[in-house]
Amino acid sequence: MELTVEGIRDSIGAIPDYPKPGIIFRDITPLLQNPAAFELSINTLKQRYEQTGITQIAAIEARGFIFGSALAYAMGCGVTLLRKPGKLPGKVVSQSYDLEYGSDELQMHENALTANDRVLIVDDLLATGGTVVAAHKLIKATGAEVEEAAFVVSLPELGGEDKLQQAGVACYTLCQF
Ligand code: AMP
Repeated sequence: MELTVEGIRDSIGAIPDYPKPGIIFRDITPLLQNPAAFELSINTLKQRYEQTGITQIAAIEARGFIFGSALAYAMGCGVTLLRKPGKLPGKVVSQSYDLEYGSDELQMHENALTANDRVLIVDDLLATGGTVVAAHKLIKATGAEVEEAAFVVSLPELGGEDKLQQAGVACYTLCQF
């Protein structure tokens, strides 16, 4: 039977109480191990974006690297890495963001993008939206245009889509839980 986009949802695992009690961790590793589901995920995103003039995919550490790199290869565009602090070797720009408890930071090489770039942000999952709003700030400060933010999974109850809308970032997700 041919796999449909609905089948992508079925290929995502659920690990209760990880990494802490009360959280259901949506695990994309079964999707990655299923060649048909991984291929369909990338091809669905490619079809959506291939005519949009995207020059760079801004991939968020770490699982965003997997989908972002495969999509960039399929679309023939570059990959810009948005990393946790201390990982990039060159001069960086940083943006901190709030987590449920505490805060975290994303970094990008300061010369990674220019006003000539059109960028698609990619991560595996949208939860509260804090990570992607920080990514958007880093990218916009370079003068580059952000086309959209794309995810495999979103968790609408956590408010990420509303937060992105308030920040003026369009978003697209392959499935929701
Ligand atoms: P947020 O900034 O709240 O939208 O969180 C998004 C980031 O945290 C993504 O990089 C996800 O990989 C990770 N994440 C948050 N919640 C979950 C969850 N329930 N299952 C899997 N990953 C999650």
